[in-house]
Amino acid sequence: MANMADVCNILGRLRWFNLAILTITPAVGLYGIYTTRLRWETLLWATACYVLSMLGITAGYHRLWSHRSYNASRPLQYLLCLLGASAVQGSIYWWARGHRSHHRYTDTPLDPYNAKRGLFYTHVGWMLIKPSVKPGPSDISDLKNNEVVQWQHRWYFAIIPIVGYALPTIVAGLGWGDWWGGWYYASMWRITFAHHSTFCINSIAHYLGESPFDDKKTARDHFLSALLTMGEGYHNFHHQFPMDYRNAIRWYQFDPTKWFIATCGALGLASNLRVFPENEISKGELAMQLKKLKKVQEEIRWPIQVDDLPIVSWEKFKKESEERVLVIVSGFIHDVSEFLDEHPGGRGLLLGQRGKDATAAFFGGVYEHGNAAHNLLSMMRVGVLLGGVEHVKAIAPGERLRIVERLDQ
Ligand SMILES: [Zn+2]
Ligand SMILES: [Zn+2]
Repeated sequence: MANMADVCNILGRLRWFNLAILTITPAVGLYGIYTTRLRWETLLWATACYVLSMLGITAGYHRLWSHRSYNASRPLQYLLCLLGASAVQGSIYWWARGHRSHHRYTDTPLDPYNAKRGLFYTHVGWMLIKPSVKPGPSDISDLKNNEVVQWQHRWYFAIIPIVGYALPTIVAGLGWGDWWGGWYYASMWRITFAHHSTFCINSIAHYLGESPFDDKKTARDHFLSALLTMGEGYHNFHHQFPMDYRNAIRWYQFDPTKWFIATCGALGLASNLRVFPENEISKGELAMQLKKLKKVQEEIRWPIQVDDLPIVSWEKFKKESEERVLVIVSGFIHDVSEFLDEHPGGRGLLLGQRGKDATAAFFGGVYEHGNAAHNLLSMMRVGVLLGGVEHVKAIAPGERLRIVERLDQ
């Protein structure tokens, strides 16, 4: 049970301002549900405000300022910094600094939202309680010299009441007379949704889904988290290639932030959209696919390898053939005694090759055996014939693309 000292310690580390924003906003919104009918004009407006404020975060705070994945013209920078401010998630300067630490120290105690500390912590916990370990340092010299970032940081607490609360309310009030609807839905609920959508990038995008590019870290790709975060849910890709302006690389994947940046590029508002070399992306992807296949490979039984088989002289082979049905194919001695009745061509053909080199017969002299037959035959190896016979087709077809892990370097 927590004693008094623990409680005082937690209370002393509480971030009261964040706690207030994250609890009062939805509480006021809830009150609105019971007192104010949601009009369809207001619903559309709140949705538009949500998309715009999210783009401020994803295209602005995240991909532009945290990762420099493209260059934005001055008007676009001001637009994104105001849209991002309307999501009420702190200034760009604070947000991007933390995010760079997250990328640099992912999954370690220096990561401000270390996924190893669980879903609640990465979703909101880290914002509610000051961490005992400070987030690891990151280079933010570019942000220090960015006029727009510094302007927003300086005036942040003057900007958010205007763009975060007043503007969404005023538009609904003056536009269709729904002042309270604007306040409850386009402000309170829209901010609440934008908060938790963004938080999902740190929580579920490090928890739910696949690791198609690398599995060293917890970041994952999943359609659901992409849907919730305007395309930021392809987080496994993002952690591998953070400078890429895309999070989703396939045309059918949901990444509206990428579409927005590409549109800004087409309109001349954004330039130098960075893309990681396709070859390197494919390399990462292939490595992960091979890793999965290797697991399948490990569950399959394979033929005994040449070095592990006894070397047998011709005389010994002949002698042992009298006791069991041995045949030579490609320099390997096979014990086919157990297989006589299973042989599709019948016992007779096999017994006819007993104590002989059946290589030519096996590979077309009598019948052109398929890959499955060759694979099966290789499982019956019991020895290697000493000298004289070449190891033609020594590797069975099923083994030719076998995945071998290189651990020597
Ligand atoms: Zn992450
Ligand atoms: Zn990032």
